[in-house]
Amino acid sequence: MNVPEQMHAMVLGAPGKPPQFVTVAVPKPKAGQVLVRVHACGVCRTDLHIVDGELSDPKFPLILGHEIVGTAVQVGDRVEQFRLGDRVGVPWLGWTCGQCRYCLQGQENICNRALFTGYTIDGGYAEYTVADQRYCFPLPSSYGDADAAPLLCAGLIGYRSYRLAGEKIERLGLYGFGAAAHIIAQVAAHQGKRVYAFTRPGDSDSQAFARRLGAVWAGDSTVLPPEELDAAIIFAPAGSLVPVALRATAKGGVVVAGGIHMSDIPSFPYHILWGERVVRSVANLTRRDGEELLAIAPQVPIRTEVQTFPLAQANDALERLRRGRIQGAAVLVMR
Ligand SMILES: [Zn+2]
Ligand SMILES: [Zn+2]
Repeated sequence: MNVPEQMHAMVLGAPGKPPQFVTVAVPKPKAGQVLVRVHACGVCRTDLHIVDGELSDPKFPLILGHEIVGTAVQVGDRVEQFRLGDRVGVPWLGWTCGQCRYCLQGQENICNRALFTGYTIDGGYAEYTVADQRYCFPLPSSYGDADAAPLLCAGLIGYRSYRLAGEKIERLGLYGFGAAAHIIAQVAAHQGKRVYAFTRPGDSDSQAFARRLGAVWAGDSTVLPPEELDAAIIFAPAGSLVPVALRATAKGGVVVAGGIHMSDIPSFPYHILWGERVVRSVANLTRRDGEELLAIAPQVPIRTEVQTFPLAQANDALERLRRGRIQGAAVLVMR
């Protein structure tokens, strides 16, 4: 396939400055890598944390973006999983060592040497990207490119958070009704859970959106739900929600922090944790999480709501995400 020498990309030169729309060289696939022509790339809150300098040691200069949907246009040596023309999904987990104690225990998500797409390796805010075939996914054919993109982080890491909230739960709270919650609400409702959605106070649009997607109740994060929760997942990056969610959770319940970054958690009285309640975080994803979620997605079926932006308007998409002005997920689409 014809691949140009140069491409457009949004490149982040340093933290605290917006990424710039520039022309750079198209990367070449090394052994085991696929060169992907990007069709769509989701915009994630993690991208904002990187732009804002809230995550340590990103690569610079950096091409953001870790929810990539595209087509394989070149393959390096020893690539067997994808052929030219195949659709490829590239997620946040980009490489692991396969040798550390975490990798050997099925916890590659917390590998000591892991590399992450759009953070420590270049991602998909570009017309082309390279990815290690072993961490890429084939995507269900029932999804268009832009519709599939949010499944690759909001879906996968949301699913891991949901999985670790416990199998036997009946009443699930979701704090922050953005890209991840809008996907997981559908999975949970499909599996017979009662979903309680919590939004920024007064955000009646997001509350109505949550009810449309299967939530039995939606309200402000400042109020208690009408019944106790068996588990809560906090997708919003606000540490103040940890004691709020604990107060809403029954004895033995789990509060999962699903984001990569959170503001400080305020101190809280021990009695809201007592009763064997658990607070835990979720970090990254394993390939197993990806395989499971992508198999479940067409069965539910999960319908993603996306708002698309051209690549050159990535900063506009990021700003709207920051202000809570995106319903569902923001996705960059390439021409
Ligand atoms: Zn993400
Ligand atoms: Zn490892």
